[in-house]
Formats: sequence, structure tokens, C-alpha cells
Amino acid sequence: MRASQYLIPTAKEAPAEATVASHVLMMRAGMIRRVAAGIYTILPLGLRVMRKIERILREELEKAGCLEVNMPMVIPAELWRQSKRWDLYGPELLRLKDRKGAEFCLGPTHEEVITQLAASEIKSYRQLPLNLFQIQTKFRDETRPRFGMMRGREFVMKDAYSFDLDAETAQVSYWKMHEAYTQIFSRCGLEFAPVEADTGTIGGSLSHEFQVIADTGEDALATCVSCGYAANIEKAQILAVAPAAVKQTGEPKRLDTPDVCSIAELTSFLEVEGKCVIKALLFELGDQVIMALMRGDRELNEAKLRALLDCDQLIPASPETLMRSIGDVAGFIGPLGLQDIRIIADHEVMAMNDAICGANARDQHLGAVQPLRDFQAETADLRFAEEGDICGRCEGQPLSFRRGIDVGHIFYLGNKYSKAMGATVLDKNGKPTPLEMGCYGIGVGRTAAACIEQNHDEQGICWPVPVAPFEVHLLALGKQQEILDACEPLYHELTAAGLEVLYDDRPERPGFKFKDAELIGLPWRVGLGKRGIDSGSAELVERRSGERFDVPLAELAEFLTKRIVPARLGN
Ligand code: ATP
Ligand code: MG
Repeated sequence: MRASQYLIPTAKEAPAEATVASHVLMMRAGMIRRVAAGIYTILPLGLRVMRKIERILREELEKAGCLEVNMPMVIPAELWRQSKRWDLYGPELLRLKDRKGAEFCLGPTHEEVITQLAASEIKSYRQLPLNLFQIQTKFRDETRPRFGMMRGREFVMKDAYSFDLDAETAQVSYWKMHEAYTQIFSRCGLEFAPVEADTGTIGGSLSHEFQVIADTGEDALATCVSCGYAANIEKAQILAVAPAAVKQTGEPKRLDTPDVCSIAELTSFLEVEGKCVIKALLFELGDQVIMALMRGDRELNEAKLRALLDCDQLIPASPETLMRSIGDVAGFIGPLGLQDIRIIADHEVMAMNDAICGANARDQHLGAVQPLRDFQAETADLRFAEEGDICGRCEGQPLSFRRGIDVGHIFYLGNKYSKAMGATVLDKNGKPTPLEMGCYGIGVGRTAAACIEQNHDEQGICWPVPVAPFEVHLLALGKQQEILDACEPLYHELTAAGLEVLYDDRPERPGFKFKDAELIGLPWRVGLGKRGIDSGSAELVERRSGERFDVPLAELAEFLTKRIVPARLGN
């Protein structure tokens, strides 16, 4: 490809909204342009990267026996009503109506559509196992679209869905995808880790996120050097602290705290630390009222509470519910003297002594509270793992923490969707059985962005060969005809050798071309100017290492082929 006929609008600066390296560099290297918040046009250079990743996906998924399909982006509401997600999914789901007033949504994920297909097309266990995938545009009206392709509203996802007769074979399908994902991200040249992830309502431990290790990642990961346990901190198990010994004497003291409602106000009013206070949070789940208790300096890990309650959503108790179940005491609730409320306390709360909590009376708190003596509660792990916490799996070493970008997520679904949507097959005895399913996603643009996060320096991107938009950047170092005449056959020769070459034939100064080349970051740069023509050699630079080589023109194709072809397969 000739740069003079190609569209790579490079820029010195990126817009202020670009705060992470991948976003800045994708903008500066002319790979993407913003159309609206979280919505982008992908330019030729960016699209070549997407296509490379998609090719790796197709190759590895086909190796794993998956079949490619293509589902619509516009999905009738009816399907989402069958799965109950029309009401549950919330404002991330973009809903629309056609001219007749029929309701649709833009697909944020495709369990409903694929399950409908399975219900109509899979009749017998003989058709199983089956795994169908697509690479398709999704829409999610994210609250905070940001970081460019990393968290867009419109984005390309590879989503796959497996169908099996029973839980046992479904798990075989699951682990096969785990292996395929490991291959995929290795081939993309990424440093990544599969970590255990929140399974929400489905339970069990069969959900893994594939996290690309990067300081700018949105997810926090906990790992144990001793047993190898790795999990998202939403899920990471921590060793529970023992409850405090119960004091037999004393009793809670009433404290006047007029208008002191929040934990911050309370700690400053009483001049105590957050860890001395019990924070109470009230939720409603159907007819049930639930109080979650945390130490005042801790944040509730909603994923852990959701998993414990086996629900999709935590709904804070309404003022009416609070009024009915405790009274007109917003800001002053606590676990003492309650009836008909399910109290769930984080382990740390039960380890407190002389605690302070709401008195369930307006403008009052209680001090010298002793858990177990003054109130009873179910105990559970309800917080996020933190520095210093001991691994809850092996109970040995302290957990260590890293940040990651969630590029892929695999999930064993069981029969949640197949049951809701009537996708059953006849088993060996002719008995109808709901299909066992798994779902598996990879964000294509997010993978490209993650790749830049891990592979860049001050000057620009350092593409790993397997996903680089081109492999070789050939630069004509000068505008003279003599130089162009020498570069032209070189360009043809390298292309004929099967290498992907971007040839910078633009009438620009060498310094300008070098800057662009470093920004765009192709793995190998080949410069040929007057000096090289005289000596019969070109200067090669490997982008990542910065290592330079003087290579005779006649040996150039062989030199590059030897290094690039094996690198195409990745790590
Ligand atoms: P997150 O917690 O980051 O929002 P998620 O749990 O919603 O992710 P999944 O529904 O599991 O994500 O989607 C599968 C994959 O799709 C993710 O691993 C990620 O690579 C990609 N993805 C999800 N949301 C976005 C987005 N807004 N922009 C780009 N890629 C995305
Ligand atoms: Mg999401």
C-alpha cells in the first residue's frame, strides 16, 4: 500500500477527552474518529487491525468446532420479554419502535435470538454439542462511554453460544472455549490472565474473564502467589476474620446525633474512625426487606450480595418500605431490635467491639454496641478484597493486586434461557430436556485497544506482528526521483515475498516520515535514501526494541521474512 494513496490522517495532538494511551494513539495515528459519544468511524488503518483480530478469532473458533452465523442487530421486544430481560436490563438497552409502533431493541448481546434459533432448529441430542458464533456490532447505551474503543456504545463483539444435552458435556464445551480463548489472546501477543468472575444469579464458579494486565485497566484483580487463585475483586474470596469475643457486661449507650445522617458526618461529629461505625444498607427483594451491614470504612461489594441473594439487581428500599418496616428514621438505621428483616453482616462487622450504629430512632445512634450480644445476623463476605487480605481459597498467603482490561468473558449459563424460551431437545430416551448453554464474548475493538495499552512508548504504538495493520514500513528518505526509483522495486519485492508493506512514498522530509512511522508503530521500518543507494544497503529498525540493522538490499526480503513469518503466530 502506498501512503500517498492511503488515508492515514496522523496528528500531533489528541483531543482532550482522550486520557488513556490507546485512545490517544488511535486518534493520533488516524485509526478512528469520533462520531458521537462512544460511537466511532474506523479508518483504514484501524480496520486492518480489527480484521487481523477477527481472523485470529475465526481461525481459533473454527479449530474449536464453532460455526459462524450472523444474527440481526435489531431484535423484537417479544424475545426479550420471554427471557424477562426487557424489564431487567435497564437503560443500557436502546429501545425503538418501527412505523407500526412495534417495539424493538438494538442487541447488546444475543442470548435471546440464539435461544430462539436453538428452540426451532435443535430437536435431538444427536445434533449436540453445537457452538455458534458471530462477529457483529453491538449497542449498549453505557452510562460512561470512554477510553475510545475500550468502552464504546457501539462496538464489535465476537459472541459465541454453546448448546449441550447435560451439565457435564456443557462444562466440556466451556473448558474448550477457555482453551480457545487462551490461544486467541496468546496469538494477539497479549500478556493476560484468566480470572474467576462474578456469576451473578447463575451461581457456581464457572465464569472467567480474560484480563489483559494494564495499569489503566478498569478492573481490579486479586491473585494468590501461593495457590494460583486469580479472581476479579468483585468475586475474590478472602479469609474471614473471627467474630469478637462477646463482652458479658455493659450495654449500648444512646448518643444524641441531631441531623447527623451519613457515615462521614457521624465520624466527624463523634471524632471516631470509620472502622468503629457499622454502616447499615436497606434493600428490598420481593416482599423481603434486607439489611446489609458493613464496617463504616468499607464499601459494599454489590456483586457478592447479589450472588448471595441470587438476584439480578439490588433494589434500595423505598422510603415507604423503610417507613413500614422500621419507621421514619432515614439516616439512623441499625441492626438492633428489628423484626421481619433479614440481617446480613460482613464478617468484619461481627469482629467489632464497642461499635457505633444507628438507633432506629430519629437523631440518635447507639454506642458501645457488641455484635452477637446486642444483635444477631447472618454473616457473609460482602466486601472487596484489599491489600493485606489473606487468600480465601488456600488461606495461606496475602493476596496481591493488579489491574486489568476485561477483553473476553466466558460463562456457563445452565438452562436459564432455554427454560424461559422453551428450547428443549429429546434425549436418548425421547424425553424433552432443556438445553444446557454457555456464552462467550470478546470485544474486538477493546482487544485492539488493550494491545496498544500493553505495546506503546512515548513516540507511539509498537504493534506485535500478529495484529499489526502492516508488517513493514518502507520509507523513501528523500523526494528525489533517484530515491523513489530505488524504493519502487524494493516495495514490489517485499510485497511479492508475502510481506504486508506500507510504502511511504509521500513527498515529505525524512524527519516527518520517521515521526509518523514511530507513531503508527509497524513492527519493522526500512529506510532507503541517498546514502543507502550508494552503499547498496537499507537501514532497518525494529520498532519495539529500537535495534538497528544495516542489511544489503539483496538480502532484505529474506532478512524480514525470517523474522516476520514466525512472529505471525504470536507468543
Ligand atoms: P464490562 O464489565 O467491561 O462492561 P461486560 O461484563 O458488560 O463488560 P460482556 O457482556 O461480558 O461485558 O461482554 C463481552 C466482551 O465484550 C467484554 O469482555 C468486552 O471485551 C466487550 N465489551 C463489553 N462492553 C463493551 C463496550 N462498552 N465497549 C467495547 N467492548 C465492550
Ligand atoms: Mg458492561
